[in-house]
Amino acid sequence: MPALKELIQSADWKTEKHIPAVDAPAGAKKGEWTKITATVGKEIAHPNTTAHHIRWITLFFAPDGEKFPYQIARAEFAAHGESAQGADTSTVYTHPEVTVNFKTDKSGTIIASSYCNIHGLWESSKRIDVK
Ligand code: FE
Repeated sequence: MPALKELIQSADWKTEKHIPAVDAPAGAKKGEWTKITATVGKEIAHPNTTAHHIRWITLFFAPDGEKFPYQIARAEFAAHGESAQGADTSTVYTHPEVTVNFKTDKSGTIIASSYCNIHGLWESSKRIDVK
């Protein structure tokens, strides 16, 4: 019986289209809002069809030396071409990208997770130093 962590895949976002690429400054100032963007398919586009798409991205912040992560954002991507006429007929789509304004006094790691409806769970992370 696998644990959830064993089902989360990881790779380089430049070569694996499911990985959420985290765009954040390497350094941030204490208490100042910092924009964090996570995008699936930044280098290699992931399919966005009714049958195959990215459902959500969740962002966590893990402060250095702390046991528990903080969830800082979650975006659901809910339109993938479906309509009353059937799959891939609406021309309405959401792109799997989310930007959030975030602040903290602590350095740590931004962890992004994403979910593809047929290829499961993926994650990546980016270090952020706060001074
Ligand atoms: Fe996929």
